[in-house]
Amino acid sequence: MIEKLSCNSCGGPLEVPERTRYLNCNHCGQSLAVKHSETATFTEAMEQLTEVAEDVAEDVAS
Ligand SMILES: [Zn+2]
Repeated sequence: MIEKLSCNSCGGPLEVPERTRYLNCNHCGQSLAVKHSETATFTEAMEQLTEVAEDVAEDVAS
């Protein structure tokens, strides 16, 4: 399932696989965390945490 979200930084449309937790906006390059609340899914801008995001991705893959 693909979630249709908006970039928290530039407002650009993003299509994100449901289980994705971190991504870089393909419009402005902002690092974003995908947050889930009970009623909505949204993005939250992060500081430069590329290394952390990569570590998390490895954890998810394994
Ligand atoms: Zn953006």
